[in-house]
Amino acid sequence: MYSEEDYLMLSGIQHFAFCRRQWAMIHIEQQWEENARTTAGELMHKKAHDESAIEKRGNLLIVRGLRISSRELGLSGQCDVVEFHQDADGIELFGYSGKWNPVPVEYKHGAPKEHQADELQLCAQAICLEEMFQTEIALGYLFYGENRRRSQVEFTSDLREEVKKLAKEMHELFQKGYTPNVKPTKQCKACSLENLCVPKLQKVMRVRDYMKQGMTSDDGQ
Ligand code: SF4
Repeated sequence: MYSEEDYLMLSGIQHFAFCRRQWAMIHIEQQWEENARTTAGELMHKKAHDESAIEKRGNLLIVRGLRISSRELGLSGQCDVVEFHQDADGIELFGYSGKWNPVPVEYKHGAPKEHQADELQLCAQAICLEEMFQTEIALGYLFYGENRRRSQVEFTSDLREEVKKLAKEMHELFQKGYTPNVKPTKQCKACSLENLCVPKLQKVMRVRDYMKQGMTSDDGQ
């Protein structure tokens, strides 16, 4: 169990899952570079948070910008949207009659991705909501701006275990203040920090270091 002063940003789990180095550059070194993609994503989140905070539509309660945290994960953040669906097996909500089941919905600019970063972030939100409302949440939704579709995400035990493992690793790296070395992959092209990280340059430098080392040992120095 973590105390509040040790909480890390929940949204960082998507960076961490994408690339440990990217996460460390943003969350440890505080480096960030806006590009068209991050700006569009930011605008989409702002829209999701800005509209009126609570809206009731029949059996559905829509809450925007709900602040969440988990002592177990040591993470805190904000949900784009939490839908509360009326359900006899749900939880009670102050000021509203009946019982309700929370379902997190995260808005993403762009299209569904090959990696699981978005699913992990949504599952971390669900774990926070479960801890806050003392309930179980089976699924949530990712809404992608590019195809304007929702995709359902089931919070399986494997996904939950992965979230817990990543959150633990994030805390360990944060404690050490350690930024992992570059490991260039094809996803570097989609990385918002490519210009700051310069993976190609660092790869060349590592080859040079290697050659230099070889020459030094040949000289016996
Ligand atoms: S450019 Fe590549 S190695 Fe560097 S932070 Fe981005 S994904 Fe990670």
